[in-house]
Amino acid sequence: MIHLSHPKFQILIIASILTGLFLAGCSEPANEESVEWALALHGGAGAISQEMPDSVKNQYYDGLEQAVRTGEIVLREGGSALDAVEQVVRNLENNPLFNAGKGAVFTKEGRHELDAAIMDGSTMQAGALTGLTTVKNPVSLARVVMQESDHIFFSGQGAEQFADETNVERVENDHFFTQNRYDQWQRSNNQTSSAAPENPRTLSSHNSYKFGTVGAVAIDTDGHLAAATSTGGMTNKQFGRVGDVPIIGSGTFANHVAAVSATGWGEKIMQQVSANTIANLVEFGGYSLEEAVDFLLEERLQPDEAGFIAVDSDGNIVMKMNTPGMYRGSVNSLGETEIKIWTEE
Ligand code: ASP
Repeated sequence: MIHLSHPKFQILIIASILTGLFLAGCSEPANEESVEWALALHGGAGAISQEMPDSVKNQYYDGLEQAVRTGEIVLREGGSALDAVEQVVRNLENNPLFNAGKGAVFTKEGRHELDAAIMDGSTMQAGALTGLTTVKNPVSLARVVMQESDHIFFSGQGAEQFADETNVERVENDHFFTQNRYDQWQRSNNQTSSAAPENPRTLSSHNSYKFGTVGAVAIDTDGHLAAATSTGGMTNKQFGRVGDVPIIGSGTFANHVAAVSATGWGEKIMQQVSANTIANLVEFGGYSLEEAVDFLLEERLQPDEAGFIAVDSDGNIVMKMNTPGMYRGSVNSLGETEIKIWTEE
């Protein structure tokens, strides 16, 4: 018969108490609050001039703040990450300051062709569109594609026909017109007719109105991740050009590990299948979310090419770029809010 008073057992009991005390000392302090939900958004990255007038700066800060609050309300009330990213992107699409929805850039032909995508990380379902010309809020049509069609990605005429069968709001193509984008297109026409610079994103870098693809990523109180991105693409793009935004895994991606939305030079972002690579580095490479984003920005992409917003399953947020600026904002359940444009501010 074994007696607990036996010296061997006493040593074992003392050892396990000490181990327990040691482990308790190593773990997180009990009162440290964990993040229940989190949201980040971007309004485009590029050579955003610090010289822009204060009145314009304030319009951007206000626009970003409103978009952050839109998502915060959804998540704080227990809404889904999917609803939050759709609502945030709709808000930014309706803001003429940003290159998505109203305020989209001009194509070579002087029109507006819009791309958008949305992805639900909890189901891996996605919806994407390219070359839309009459849908007021492309992100919402992307969600309908995701939820109500048998497919993921529609383009051009097919995308418009799909829209005809839904209730999404339609507009004339000139709804997307803004004078700033028109002037930028004119300047860009003049520049490309002389000598085309290598990186189209540094074209007329004094022009603060040039960038503005929008995107949002979120995690909700159920731990579900989602991402959405919407854009007019790049100024002067050729008819039918498709950027990274609607390519699932390039400009937009979400799974159970991370949600990512990109902005920048679409062709470069696509070559690296960037958004999916970031999630894979976290899932399979042992990278933290920040290390994964840094790897893409520093090791895979060149300076001035891109920016990413990302959130992981622990609610960590990363918003980083290798351009001088990126319109961006974030908020989480701990009330931590950030709204910034440039690297240093
Ligand atoms: N990535 C977008 C595109 O290439 C443009 C941007 O983010 O500004 O279509």
